[in-house]
Amino acid sequence: MARSLVERMSHPTHAVAQDTPSVARAVAQANLNLFSTLGDEQSVDVLVVGGGPAGSSCAIALARAGARVMLVDAQARGRDKCCGHCLSGGAWKILSELGLREVVESVSTGATGQVAWRSGAQGFEMNLPALGAITPRVELDKKLLEESERVGARVVQSATAKWVSPGKVAVRMAGEECVVNAKLVIAADGLGSGIARARGWNPASPGRKYGFAGSWRAPMALRNWPAERIEMRVVRGGYLGVVAESHEQIHVAGLIDRNSNVSRPDDLLNEVARDWPLLAAALQEGRPSRWHAAGPLPWVPTCIADESTALVGDAAGYAEPFSGEGMRWAFESAQGLCATWKQHGAWSAAAARTYLNWHRDHIARRQQKTLRTAWFLGQPARASIMCQAARTFPRAASWLACSMTQ
Ligand SMILES: Cc1cc2nc3c(=O)[nH]c(=O)nc-3n(C[C@H](O)[C@H](O)[C@H](O)COP(=O)(O)OP(=O)(O)OC[C@H]3O[C@@H](n4cnc5c(N)ncnc54)[C@H](O)[C@@H]3O)c2cc1C
Repeated sequence: MARSLVERMSHPTHAVAQDTPSVARAVAQANLNLFSTLGDEQSVDVLVVGGGPAGSSCAIALARAGARVMLVDAQARGRDKCCGHCLSGGAWKILSELGLREVVESVSTGATGQVAWRSGAQGFEMNLPALGAITPRVELDKKLLEESERVGARVVQSATAKWVSPGKVAVRMAGEECVVNAKLVIAADGLGSGIARARGWNPASPGRKYGFAGSWRAPMALRNWPAERIEMRVVRGGYLGVVAESHEQIHVAGLIDRNSNVSRPDDLLNEVARDWPLLAAALQEGRPSRWHAAGPLPWVPTCIADESTALVGDAAGYAEPFSGEGMRWAFESAQGLCATWKQHGAWSAAAARTYLNWHRDHIARRQQKTLRTAWFLGQPARASIMCQAARTFPRAASWLACSMTQ
């Protein structure tokens, strides 16, 4: 990432734009109007289910390649999402390759260049292998959906998609239903993908961890926040990542193990704040008014593609949030899927095999590494040993960080 951008983002003026109720009503009506123009049945080349980073980037790449694309998302535009909001250096590289870097830069609010890990009395700091950026999801996802529309994809929001049979999906909005026939159904519907479950591709045993995220105003505490910093804290029951989204807004995201004695995000926050005065001070200023949750984790489907359906992003598999690579995997899997479509000229059983092999080699293997490292973070004593080792052998720590993320 260019230094000029980092400097610009080091002085963020960002405030999350909230639609007023009248704007939200107008958008909902426009959605309904658009939906009623669809009629009972539609045919497209590609139906993308889900409008997060994976779904939007697929829609953009395929619409640019000339495919007739429809994207359906269950939620209204401007929805928030459980996420740490950190776009890694690797994610920026893929965004450049997808021609989306400038679109995303316009909504980034700050740079990330350093991560500090702490567990109990042990801790270490390291520079990230490449600069990243803080990019609030409300803005990021909205911007990518706008770009999907701009390049010709038809975007339908506040509508849920349900798999009916190969190449056939029922899309429902406000009691109305439209059947969409598609040469390829792309499931970008996130963790626990409904399309994957309908296809019988869900893992036999679900994960036992849950993610959570929230923000609040804490301008006083953030006066002492080191620039470009991501803080990670491991405690009993889970871990927490913290960034300054702006000079005024603190953002936290973490993971709770369902089998632990911690059951609520607030309990984990309190536990971390006991040893961390800065977070304790921020909690004096407020707390998230609303938590966003995600899970269970990890999610590893048994299959990710056949001749009619392909999974991308979290739907195709997700390990744990600590590596900060979820959005990179989402963009990269979309890139891999679209390259496969172009290589084969359309979708087919052979294209599905190409994509399966590509995903295994480029994404699934890295997620397996992440899962192995997660074992250390699952318990503070092991995490302390890892912190101590990283401080003693900083080059080994950098190597581990690079090998996990590159
Ligand atoms: C606690 C936590 C912190 C994280 N922090 C980071 C981070 O800092 N950096 C990072 O890179 N990654 C992070 N991640 C991971 C990142 O959030 C995900 O990897 C990323 O959002 C995946 O994008 P996606 O497009 O695959 O899915 P999503 O962003 O989940 O989008 C899925 C979309 O599908 C829609 N949908 C679902 N079902 C249907 C349906 N039936 N019909 C229509 N639409 C449907 C949903 O409305 C949603 O909009 C974090 C994850 C967690 C849990």
